[in-house]
Amino acid sequence: MKTFVATQNAGKLRELRAIFSGSSLALAKPRKYAAPAEDADTYGGNALLKAQALAATLQKREIVGMVLADDSGLEVDALEGRPGVYSARYGGADIGWPERRAALLAELRGVPPYRRSARFVCALALIEPGQEPVIVTGHVNGYLLEVESGAGGFGYDPLFFYPPSGRSFAALSEKEKNAVSHRRRAADALLSALQSRV
Ligand code: IMP
Repeated sequence: MKTFVATQNAGKLRELRAIFSGSSLALAKPRKYAAPAEDADTYGGNALLKAQALAATLQKREIVGMVLADDSGLEVDALEGRPGVYSARYGGADIGWPERRAALLAELRGVPPYRRSARFVCALALIEPGQEPVIVTGHVNGYLLEVESGAGGFGYDPLFFYPPSGRSFAALSEKEKNAVSHRRRAADALLSALQSRV
């Protein structure tokens, strides 16, 4: 059975495909996915809303498959956990990523390096026909840089310094990021939850 991914974010899809390759889940991009309003106040709640929206569309089109959804965000300690579940809209819904990152840097201006701790969080929700949904989370800790670094990744990656590698997430190869990221940790939790279910 295919697992359709409920996302319009090309970066997330690419990473999820790489992370789950070789696992029991064969990920596929649905022909149509209309993102629902993300109005839950947790990552898990929003991941479930996205998965349910795509599951309903597939059911209408009589397509049998599982659905996987990702809701993720960046939590900055100096901002009491913001932008968190609002990470995709931080600084305004209609601005581009360079502007969004610049807005975050501006809000953190003057915050010294030792107070710039942050974490990426990822919730994954999996809906399998006839089963209770499975929702898991994973996170990775790091620090926010004062200037962008690296040309890879997406979203906030050029600002996220990962101490064990001594580089930003955007300076890591996809393989290196996918080995340690919040998405990888959530994926590992999902695969163990599925294993312990059978
Ligand atoms: P949402 O899950 O669609 O609400 O969006 C979360 C936002 O957090 C996205 O727009 C991302 O750009 C950002 N984000 C989530 N995961 C990552 C990541 O791995 N790297 C950089 N930014 C991320």
